[in-house]
Amino acid sequence: MIMMDFSLHIYTNLLLALLDKAYTFQPFGEFIESQKNKTIVMRHDVDRIPNNSLETANIENELGIKGTYYFRAVPESYDEKIIKQIADLGHEIGYHYESLSTCGGDLRLAIDDFRFNLKKLREICPVKTICMHGSPLSNYDNRLLWEKYDYRDFGIVGSPCEIKYL
Ligand SMILES: [Zn+2]
Repeated sequence: MIMMDFSLHIYTNLLLALLDKAYTFQPFGEFIESQKNKTIVMRHDVDRIPNNSLETANIENELGIKGTYYFRAVPESYDEKIIKQIADLGHEIGYHYESLSTCGGDLRLAIDDFRFNLKKLREICPVKTICMHGSPLSNYDNRLLWEKYDYRDFGIVGSPCEIKYL
């Protein structure tokens, strides 16, 4: 608990220092569409413990900052109530996909999994960007899904982890 407070304090100070230097903040989806000068995209991959993400989302909101939160479709990340709360604070919600890993490298199964999870997430809030979840222990690079398919066909405008596909 003490560590938690300590790191949130550091995070708040970092944001304050950046605001003091006149940086602006944009959610990733907005950044893709029109980039402001001196802009920062604050991206959070919610691998687990969504409650911690709610805390940074609240801090950013108090400072007038909009970030982007990528949620996985697994129980340790996917909390509909928290996703809704973070979206209601004005932050962008994205899908932190890992379909190729969960489908054992089968591209056809993986794209169905991707489609299904994206649709489910969109029942909570709009989703226009994605970011892959990568584990050093995984045999699969989830981005390989886009060698065969195109995420634009799913209404996705970009991904911060796949610059070559932008
Ligand atoms: Zn991740």
